[in-house]
Amino acid sequence: MAEGKVALVRDRADVLWVLEVVAALEDLSPWQRELDRLANDEVEVECPSCSDYIYLELVDSALVATTGPDAVPDGQPVQQAPPSDLGPAEARLVTLSEAHGHTDVAREMLQLFGRARCPHCGTWFGIIDALR
Ligand SMILES: [Zn+2]
Repeated sequence: MAEGKVALVRDRADVLWVLEVVAALEDLSPWQRELDRLANDEVEVECPSCSDYIYLELVDSALVATTGPDAVPDGQPVQQAPPSDLGPAEARLVTLSEAHGHTDVAREMLQLFGRARCPHCGTWFGIIDALR
């Protein structure tokens, strides 16, 4: 039923919310808890290397790693995950979005499933690893 709703919603926040419900029902960890953060245009993570806080801000559909919401101009865009490198949970969510025409949301998720460079220490890390 939740999967059917993916076809009905249009607003990107609604799409992400329905996808999060699907993630909960299918146990696509950790996205049953984390996907809605993308809907808020900001994902806060902790650098696995230096433990400083990093804010991933969504700017014109691009996720940018920054030291804070005011530092977006100095931020560095994240590297989108190659679709072939996705884990089963991530691949499921991207495929489901694309199947229902939500290519914009799929692109945002590919960035969330990708790699970011810490603005504090310069280390590249997998964003998924920083969420857990
Ligand atoms: Zn760092």
